[in-house]
Amino acid sequence: MNAWPFPGTFLTLESARKVRCDNLIMPISMGVLCETCRTVYFISRSGKSANIHYDRTRGEFRLSCIPPCPAVSYFHRTMLRPYSVSAEGLLRGHADVAECHMLVEL
Ligand SMILES: [Zn+2]
Repeated sequence: MNAWPFPGTFLTLESARKVRCDNLIMPISMGVLCETCRTVYFISRSGKSANIHYDRTRGEFRLSCIPPCPAVSYFHRTMLRPYSVSAEGLLRGHADVAECHMLVEL
């Protein structure tokens, strides 16, 4: 069973820094997990994303999953978490939760 709500591999920020030094191909990006399809969607530094849009009327971000996942969810900026992910996944804008390492501040 996954350790809901934060599945995947746990890294402390301390160990993440080490990973980052050893392995530069794993950039850190802010993302949010869709519980339905277990996919992490990333928000780019410019705030633009194919799947995440800021809804001004609600003051929240809206995540529209890629088909066949029908999920549309709203989340607040504070729900974004830092993930270490391959450059490829970052370029795609999303990655399977198994491909990501969530960074946890202890
Ligand atoms: Zn989904």
